[in-house]
Amino acid sequence: MFPAPHDLSCPAASPGSPVQVEVIEVGTMDADWKFVQNDGKEGPVAMTMRVGVIHHPGGTILVDAAQGQATRDGKWPGFPVSAKSQHIPEGSALHERNLNVQKVLLTHGHYDHIGGLMDLPGVEVWLTPNEWIYLHSGALGAGPVLRADLKWKPVLPNGQVLDRPATDVMGDGTVWLLSTPGHTPGSASVLVRAADGPWLFVGDTAWVDSHLLDTQRPWLVSALFDSNHKQYIESLEWARSLKAACPNLRVVTGHDPTPFVPPAN
Ligand SMILES: [Zn+2]
Repeated sequence: MFPAPHDLSCPAASPGSPVQVEVIEVGTMDADWKFVQNDGKEGPVAMTMRVGVIHHPGGTILVDAAQGQATRDGKWPGFPVSAKSQHIPEGSALHERNLNVQKVLLTHGHYDHIGGLMDLPGVEVWLTPNEWIYLHSGALGAGPVLRADLKWKPVLPNGQVLDRPATDVMGDGTVWLLSTPGHTPGSASVLVRAADGPWLFVGDTAWVDSHLLDTQRPWLVSALFDSNHKQYIESLEWARSLKAACPNLRVVTGHDPTPFVPPAN
């Protein structure tokens, strides 16, 4: 049972914003619908590894890093995940796209969101303090990523946005890292006030778009992958409320198999 819907006001349009956003698909992961959503659907599905690209005058910021060269080479991630079920086409990895990345905002530290960091030496990685602790306490596959040449930056909230503790990433109110825990202890979402409207990246609080409507992860899958069920349900309901109430808000889920299509303004 979901808690009562949140009373949230929608993020305002910001037509003068200097920020542009795009969603890119770095690759796919083999899965079966029966492990993705609890509506009886079955059959193979290629889950995307999505990355948000925020073009800000202060530099290019990514939301998550998907996987990269080590996965393509079959070297990472190891057991119990198989690199063979992860597919990254030539030219599709982050380091092959001339993005000139300044920083990466992590929605969370699962392997399929952090592997590509190993291809971005020297980059700043922003995350919540609880996710920083989680990465150092047994997050799957995190070891090689933590040993890579990266500038880790756990950040405390310095504001409240959409009813959530939030960090103003660029200091101008255009990009916010919001605390939405539950999938992992320090899971975050990213709100961007872009020229074409507001965007919300919810990471794996919702794997697929149907999780924002009427399905959820099957209970056993949720028990395996979500660190705190109560917090996860609260964060999912928050995302659902925004999706339902704000037709101009571009809500980007973690792995929907279809390319992201922004709603018309
Ligand atoms: Zn995840």
